[in-house]
Amino acid sequence: MSAQLTLFTDIATAPKRPRARRTHPSVPDLPATTLPAALLRAADWILLNSSGGKDSQAMASHVCALAAKLGLLHRVVVVHADLGDIEWEGTRKLAADQARRLGVRFEVVRAEGGDLLARTVARFFKLKARAEKEARDQGLDPAAVKIAPAWPSSAARWCTSDLKRGPIRKLITRLVAELGDLGRPARILSCMGQRAAESAPRAKLAPVEIDRPASSGKRHVTVWRPIHGWSDAEVWKEIARSGLPYHEAYDWGMSRLSCSFCVLGCEADVVLAARLRPMKAAEFVAVERSVGTDFKHGLSMREIVERAKALDAEHGELRRPPRGTALSGYIGKNATRKYLARVEQERLDLVA
Ligand code: SF4
Repeated sequence: MSAQLTLFTDIATAPKRPRARRTHPSVPDLPATTLPAALLRAADWILLNSSGGKDSQAMASHVCALAAKLGLLHRVVVVHADLGDIEWEGTRKLAADQARRLGVRFEVVRAEGGDLLARTVARFFKLKARAEKEARDQGLDPAAVKIAPAWPSSAARWCTSDLKRGPIRKLITRLVAELGDLGRPARILSCMGQRAAESAPRAKLAPVEIDRPASSGKRHVTVWRPIHGWSDAEVWKEIARSGLPYHEAYDWGMSRLSCSFCVLGCEADVVLAARLRPMKAAEFVAVERSVGTDFKHGLSMREIVERAKALDAEHGELRRPPRGTALSGYIGKNATRKYLARVEQERLDLVA
């Protein structure tokens, strides 16, 4: 075979490389400022990403307090990515209520194409078909192929990109269109409640950075993590200061909100969630059976359910804790009573 023919054959059979995504030349590499007031003043839209959880709400009330001082509340939008029945009951309503109490616009986005469980099953069949085709192409037995895990994981966190990031980017497109022609790219300040104290990967995140994949010639998106350096105690103190209601899952003992069963959640949280939502846990067990891999790396939902049942058998079913349980651990019972009274009074004021 000639050298030319060999080269042609190599190119023809080489797997297609994904095309590198080019960022528009107008998109800066680094943010022009990291000063909160300057970031807020420069933004055409101040987008507060809210899961409805404690970090999101502390971030939202903190940013709204700063924006109010600068007369910029009219540029603030709270966005909640609705995860359907996968998230804790009432989360979407709570995020809307928090935005209403803060006096800012609220938007809900939702991914098309099913929730986390439906997507896991669909992904399994896609991965299976691909692996079987590759085996056939190589003259191997397709029935003996190993199929990659379909569940999301820290290495393949498609749940966040598909269910949250993607739909929120569509909202950004809509918000930019509302601005009309500015004669320059729109400036979006996307605020997140991520904190260094949550995990080692989150500790590595920059407090301010340019979101290059979300930016284009029409919009420059800057990500700001206003509470990146905050401790748990600071978050709860901000919740007490703001008077915004928080989700009751925290009073039950959950350390995080968003998906009731998070692939990255700690064992204590997923076992507690299985005690609180046994029917939903059973759905996860059924999907585990369909896709043939464990929900969490090294921990199956089947085992989680067994542990939950063992705890129920030992201690009896969980009893509803008093409202404010989570907060009182940080600010004391008296201050919690005042907080709860304020939450209720503001609810009545909004109804009136
Ligand atoms: S909460 Fe967990 S499972 Fe849900 S989208 Fe985020 S990382 Fe994925």
